[in-house]
Amino acid sequence: MKKNSMADSENQEIVITGIAASPGICIGKAYLVDREGVNVIKKYHIPGSDIEPEKNRLRNAVVKARDELRSIIEDSPAEFRQHTGILETHVVLLEDKMLYGKTLEMIERERINAEWALKKVVSDLKRVFQDMTDPYFRERAADIVHVSDRIFRNLSGVEAVNIKAIDKRVILIATDLSPAQTSQIQLERIKGIATNGGGAASHTGIIARTLEIPAILGLRNATKIVKNDDLVILDGTSGKLIVRPAEETLLEYEERSEVYEAHRARISRSSQFPAQTLDGFTIPILGNIDLPEEIVAVRDYGGNGIGLYRTEFQYMGRIGFPTEEQLFERYRDVVEIMAPYPVTIRTLDINGDKTMPYVCDIEEPNPVLGLRAIRYCLKKPHIFKIQLRAILRAAAYGNVRIMFPMISNCDEVRAAKALLRETATSLEKDGVKFNPNIDVGIMIEVPSAAVMADVLAREVDFFSIGTNDLIQYLLAIDRSNQYVSHLYKPLHPAVIRMLKRVADEAHRNGISVYMCGEMASNPIHLPILLGLGIDELSTNPQSIPVVKNAIRSLSLEGMDQLMEQVLEKSSDMEIEHLMKEKYGHLLSSAVYTPSLG
Ligand code: PEP
Ligand code: MG
Repeated sequence: MKKNSMADSENQEIVITGIAASPGICIGKAYLVDREGVNVIKKYHIPGSDIEPEKNRLRNAVVKARDELRSIIEDSPAEFRQHTGILETHVVLLEDKMLYGKTLEMIERERINAEWALKKVVSDLKRVFQDMTDPYFRERAADIVHVSDRIFRNLSGVEAVNIKAIDKRVILIATDLSPAQTSQIQLERIKGIATNGGGAASHTGIIARTLEIPAILGLRNATKIVKNDDLVILDGTSGKLIVRPAEETLLEYEERSEVYEAHRARISRSSQFPAQTLDGFTIPILGNIDLPEEIVAVRDYGGNGIGLYRTEFQYMGRIGFPTEEQLFERYRDVVEIMAPYPVTIRTLDINGDKTMPYVCDIEEPNPVLGLRAIRYCLKKPHIFKIQLRAILRAAAYGNVRIMFPMISNCDEVRAAKALLRETATSLEKDGVKFNPNIDVGIMIEVPSAAVMADVLAREVDFFSIGTNDLIQYLLAIDRSNQYVSHLYKPLHPAVIRMLKRVADEAHRNGISVYMCGEMASNPIHLPILLGLGIDELSTNPQSIPVVKNAIRSLSLEGMDQLMEQVLEKSSDMEIEHLMKEKYGHLLSSAVYTPSLG
């Protein structure tokens, strides 16, 4: 392949790299979806007599936008139905006081045209969202842009690109795709998606993964580099978009694509079968979800339950805490659909890198070491108890486990369990249907909890090792800092020794030990995890077939000797070398290798 460089001639191959958002390779003609026309907005003043007609013009544009969104929701293809909630949010946002109300006010106060007033309000709102440290909220700035674009178009009469009307097999190259546009994608026409904007947490990424369309987001200037009808290769696994590929690159990727598809088909065909080792031991492989919608992917990929339900996402993108009823309904849906498989509901892990404006009543110099997760919940028992009530109520509808995050000492576990008991008593008093007999576990993701594993094991039914944070805190490597990412090493001997201590102490005390950190999704780590005796693994949904497939090629026999060899090594490089030498074949099965670990 040629070098990653800007074009100096029209036909030169160019490689641009973005965020690998949905795995897979596709090759095809580019179809540009730009927001042209919407960005050119002029300001003009209006006489007092025109204020009311101007406000009506805005009202009509909003009504039209609402009707358009409603019909998109109604016409959505079956595969997209589960995502129409995003569009419902857009309908609500259209009439939001901060957006709609403020624009009407500005037309009146400043006597300016509706487009200009809307542009000013949107840019202020966007700034508020973009300044937030949480990637989820930064993504929500995109929702405001999508909604306002629709109003702008209706004000100016510019027609939107109709993705539904695309009648050839193409790869979409867009500034950004709104959820409404993504919902119009016809699977038989759109081979892949590449956008300038967006991040891994964006709705476009989530939807692309669910629809299994290869996607790269955050390419910054794809719409400037790619021209309509250009031949492009989109590699959603590595995040590379190759524009106007050279002959040899094309041949290379055609081959890679065939290998990838054949491999994916093979492992998907067997994804519903258990992950049974060659010598007959079965390891349950569960899925991690951030949003209830992702349970569909977990089931399709053959997941044996939910090993980590990150509940904080339901607290995001709102102006206040959700109610007990709202939480209960979402939990019950997940629990009922997954039954009889287990659903491991992790209690609120907010603050740290997941802040919310209505939660942030303090300014922390180092939030990742601050009042996050269980620390926050124990400080705010009234908020915590609302979630505990919802979880115990949902537990009456299936197989629920509860899990507390960021435990760093024994007192926190005891306090959380006491609140859980109190909650059960209050539900009983209220005569509400609930189930108090659920497994209670903790995440092992702080080194002090791993050191205290022998004591903590007496307090709970299970441990679930969160390697994403455990590695961060053990090695003092910020998991989201690109400058030290080369030092973030799951195979560091200190990590392996710590995992061993946790697994051994769990088993010595008769409780189960699971792993839900990303370390579990990399096939090359699996022999070590089996050697440590981890009882159950939970990964991102797309990795489930890969992990199952890799386990089927391993035996537990001989793992004790492997662990002896691994524990003798003095560096991550040595361990990696040993693993590649013995189990290099597992790497070729990695259809989807996540970014962490
Ligand atoms: C972890 O820390 O490994 C984990 C699974 O939790 P999160 O990624 O949500 O911090
Ligand atoms: Mg964590």
